Amino acid sequence: MNEYYENICCEVEKTTGKAYHAMTPEIVQTSSFFFPTYEEFMAASVDEKNNYVYTRGTNPTTEILEKKIAQLEGGEKCKVFSSGMGAISATLFTLLAQGDHVLMVNTIYGESLSFMQDMGKFGVELTKIDVATTAEVEEHIQENTKLIYFESPSSQKFELLDMEKITELAKKQGAYTVIDNTWASPLFQHPLDYGVDVVIHSCSKYIGGHSDIVAGAVVGSEQLVDEIFEKGHQALGAVNSPFNSWLAIRGLRTLAVRMAHQTKAIKTVLDCLSKDHRISKIYHPYLAEGEQKQLADKYLKGYGSLFAIDLQDTDFDHLKTFVNALKVVTIGVSWGGFESLALPVFKGSNLEAVKKRGLSPSHIRMYVGLEAPMSIVEDIRQALDQAYGKEVKNEENA
Ligand SMILES: *Cc1c(COP(=O)(O)O)cnc(C)c1O
Repeated sequence: MNEYYENICCEVEKTTGKAYHAMTPEIVQTSSFFFPTYEEFMAASVDEKNNYVYTRGTNPTTEILEKKIAQLEGGEKCKVFSSGMGAISATLFTLLAQGDHVLMVNTIYGESLSFMQDMGKFGVELTKIDVATTAEVEEHIQENTKLIYFESPSSQKFELLDMEKITELAKKQGAYTVIDNTWASPLFQHPLDYGVDVVIHSCSKYIGGHSDIVAGAVVGSEQLVDEIFEKGHQALGAVNSPFNSWLAIRGLRTLAVRMAHQTKAIKTVLDCLSKDHRISKIYHPYLAEGEQKQLADKYLKGYGSLFAIDLQDTDFDHLKTFVNALKVVTIGVSWGGFESLALPVFKGSNLEAVKKRGLSPSHIRMYVGLEAPMSIVEDIRQALDQAYGKEVKNEENA
């Protein structure tokens, strides 16, 4: 964590210069940059990734953010986008071509899966698999497998994969590996250390940290990130605004403190909920056992505070009563900000889709925010009381 702060402080100093001694970096709110001479214009325009020409390419405020995220992930380079999906679609668009095959492993963020399914119309083949162990991934690799895309922990079920095994399989095949590392933040898991080629973040979550921006990032080798810049970023145009980059930099300054809190808070909340019989299952690496526990210990330096529960039954009235009774926890999408959140996967008409994803209709994604952890626990308990009546404390009776 100390190293983290050194990085943040030095970068601000270096990048802002000493002119005004400003504590925070400048928001360079400009679309384009002028050139004193024709010669300078010519030199810059043949290498837009290393020169300020137009903010669709590079921008000084956004570049500060990019350098910081690259440092935190331990990557050579980072490119920031105007959303996590902007980063994901640009990466897949850049790295894939007609005839290529992609493996998507376990419960992937829904929009990422949809994008890959849509790539089918350009002749990119997709296999979406659910595996219990990483070794099973090998069975699904084909001659034309070009990319393995995964999340670990995964969306909704928060299952882990053995990154080292996946990168080993991918390297044998000559395929790229891409991980969506949003859940762990750049502080709690460093996939590049285990040979993953590209790390993606939705900066709308922990990095922004205040529920006020939508942004994304891609981190990897200079060569790969430059390629994604030239094709996916420049052409698809999911460009982050300088102001949103500035807000993300602001978010990074408290990321370490927030994540340290989140790790403690999620443990408190899960310790309290794990014995509650009105919840049939809790999905989070902190409660993992066996191989999953070993993977959590191996790869995670701390815990993100996004988890999921299945209620005791799949009765829609119980689900409705529970969700509506929550007071501290708010109903809403996204996560990573101050507010604790609940998001039922069942939206009234998507039962087939929910089942297809291997989820229970009573599955609720929950996010522990920055409120006092016990107030979140108490809120969830009183909502369960309303749906199911008071918890019978079996252990105490026994
Ligand atoms: C939110 C999210 C995304 C999408 O990011 P946006 O910034 O909303 O486009 C992708 N992956 C995960 C795991 C997410 O939580």
